This record gives sequence, structure tokens and C-alpha cells, in this order.
Amino acid sequence: MKSFVFHNPTKLIFGKDQVESLNDHLPEHTQNVLLVYGGGSIKKNGVYDQVMEQLNKKGVTVTELSGVEPNPKLTTVHKGVDLCREHNIDFILAVGGGSVIDAVKTIATGAKYDGDAWDLVTRKAVPQDALPFGTVLTMAATASEMNGGSVITNWETNEKYGWGAAPYTYPTFSILDPQNTVTVPKDQTVYGIVDMMTHLMEQYFHEETQSPVQDEMIEGVLRAIIDTAPKLLEDLSNYDHRETIMYAGTLGLNGMMQMGYKGDWASHNIEHAVSAVYDIPHAGGLAILFPNWMEHNVDVQTHRFARLAEKVFGVETQGISEKEAGLEGAKELRKFWNSLGAPETLADYEITDEKFDTIVDRAMKRGPFGNFSQLQEEDVYRILELSK
Ligand code: NAP
Ligand code: FE
Repeated sequence: MKSFVFHNPTKLIFGKDQVESLNDHLPEHTQNVLLVYGGGSIKKNGVYDQVMEQLNKKGVTVTELSGVEPNPKLTTVHKGVDLCREHNIDFILAVGGGSVIDAVKTIATGAKYDGDAWDLVTRKAVPQDALPFGTVLTMAATASEMNGGSVITNWETNEKYGWGAAPYTYPTFSILDPQNTVTVPKDQTVYGIVDMMTHLMEQYFHEETQSPVQDEMIEGVLRAIIDTAPKLLEDLSNYDHRETIMYAGTLGLNGMMQMGYKGDWASHNIEHAVSAVYDIPHAGGLAILFPNWMEHNVDVQTHRFARLAEKVFGVETQGISEKEAGLEGAKELRKFWNSLGAPETLADYEITDEKFDTIVDRAMKRGPFGNFSQLQEEDVYRILELSK
């Protein structure tokens, strides 16, 4: 392991009916809250009412920003920043999935920055301050509820980047009630599962350094997800399965699995480039790309691919080479995601090679990338070709 500092300042409040404790976690002197949410699911499933009941009890003034889109847009961030200034907002509450939370992170820092919030996303400027914010999570997937990452898309330039700056982009608290995820439709539930599994595997395939404890933890969480996911899809309102998946999603990317190394993150980077050009669901892109990233990189630290295949996907590795085992693991992963109904090729989204040049250009914007295996332009082309 490399030397590391771990400091996750987010207070996690997990379990049934925990939204009722919202006011215990709001800063004491909060007066003006910006309530941020998406396209309206929280109004249909009652989460909006749960939150408003508490905010009304607290007696704060609430300004709303609704309509945060999946893959949140820079224009929405701008709207949020303007509202913070106009209404003297002193706390932001994100109620929704990763998109709402990611938007709020850039709004919170953007509101305290003199220039365009896009400077923060592109790392032209580093935030020096932020409005405090908390979250009520309604969908298990990103772990944005307990990490400092924010992914924002600029549709004027077709760029989508992840960024973050501790401590400003960490929520002060996140409330996770699995009951609030039972209305997540089947396709979004699958996307969430694919996203959290990919987070775990992007960390499993880290730069060369030993990590026996982390390996066991990641394998264990992956096995629990693989065991639970089919049961959940059979019974979307099952509380216990929702609870397992929600907890797994948070552990997947709250830093616990990444102590002592960086993880790879190349597949996320390529996916961001794809969905900066075509507005597809983040995890839909990952389901297509990640197994092909595995195939492309199987000659790097091959023993790790073989180990994943054996310990997570139950591949019988006796009598075959590590490489064969590793490739078998990639196949099993694909098979599992197919069984859940995840997409398999770019053609599933009617994406052809027509804009591969633009995608590769966007993916390479910050130079060669990937910590497990550094990808150059030609590698990105190959992974896209395998994904057609
Ligand atoms: P999302 O984009 O936040 O939400 C997807 C859809 O699910 C929305 O249409 C939303 O509807 C709906 N939904 C959410 N909760 C629901 C509920 N309880 N019942 C019914 N429908 C519900 O999904 P996400 O996967 O959480 O976030 C994806 C974004 O996060 C992408 O932009 C991705 O790049 C980013 N990401 C961030 C990180 C990170 O670490 N920060 C990591 C990975 C990915 P409404 O809009 O109507 O609410
Ligand atoms: Fe992700």
C-alpha cells in the first residue's frame, strides 16, 4: 500500500424513517434552504412531503430548484448558483440520486466562487469556500452521498468531467432510508447495480501494490451484490434487498475500498466521454465498456483478473492459464449484467463509430489516463471498437 490519509467528513444516517431526524443534522442557525431535486420522482413517492414536513417544522425559508437532469448540466448548476445569491441561501439540501447530489456539489462551491463554476469543474480554479449541504438519497448507485466527487456536463462543448475538492464537495450529512428507493424503476435499479459494481472493480484493478484486506472487502461486497441483485429485481419493493444494495452502493465509493492506492478509473473516463457526446445513462455506458476494458487489459497484472474470476464469479481456474481464467471472468461479468437486462453494445443505444474521433478527443482531454493501465489514444479506440 502507498501512504494515505483517510478523512471522510460526511455523517451517514442510515435506516427506516430516518428523514424524520433531518432537523437534528441541519446547522442550528439555518434560515434559507435551497431544496434541489430532479424531474419529480420525489413528489410521486412522498419523499418531498417527508422533507418539507421537517423543513416546515424547523421554520426555514425554502427556495426550490427542480428539474436537475440525469447527467446534470452546467446550465442547471448556473441556475442554482444564481438562486443561492438571490435568496441568501445558507444551506443546500439535495434530495435525489447521484445527479442531484453532483449538481449540488458544484452549486455549493460555485456560489462561493467569483467566476464561472465551470472553472472549478475543469480545475482551472480551486474552491476556497462552499455553502454547506446535505443529502437525502433516493437511489443507490454513485456513493456521491458520501464522497467528494461531482460529474457535470457542458452541452455547449460536449464535455463531461468529474471533479471534487475536499472538504468542500463532501456532504455534511446524508440520510439513507432504503424505503425511499423502492420506487426506483427496474432499469434504474439495474444501472445503479452496474455503477456500484464498476466502482468496486475500478478500485480492485489498482496500480501495482499489495492490498490483501481491500481485495477481500471488495470481493465480499461484489458477492453480496451478485447474490442480492436478481432477488431484488424479482421483488423491487423488498426492503431487505433494497437495504443491502443501498449500503453496498455507499461502500462502493466512499473511500473505504480505496485506502492505499488510487484505483484505475479509465472506464469511467471513457464513459464520461461517451455520454458527453450521446446523452446515455452513465451505467449503461459502463456496462458496455467495462468488460471490454478488462479484455483489453488482461495482460496487465493478469493474476488479478484470474483472482476476480475465481473468487467473485466462481470460475474454475484449475487447468487453465491465468489469462484464460481472467477472460472467463470478463465473460461471466457480461453474462451476469445481461441477465439483469443491462445493455451490451454501443449499438444498443444506436451509437456507431461515426463520432469515435470526438469521443476519443474528449477522453484524452486530460492526457493519457488510467492508473492500473495507462491508456493512450489507440487503446481508447480499441475499447470503443470492441464495444460497437
Ligand atoms: P440519477 O441520474 O440521479 O437518477 C436517475 C433517474 O432515477 C432519474 O430519472 C430519477 O428521477 C430517478 N429516480 C431517482 N430516485 C428515484 C426514486 N426513489 N423513485 C423513482 N425514480 C427515482 O442516477 P444516479 O445513477 O444516482 O446518478 C447518475 C449520475 O451520477 C451521472 O451523471 C454519473 O456520471 C454520476 N456519477 C457520480 C459519481 C460520484 O461519485 N459523484 C459516481 C458515479 C456516477 P427524478 O429526476 O424524477 O428524481
Ligand atoms: Fe460511476
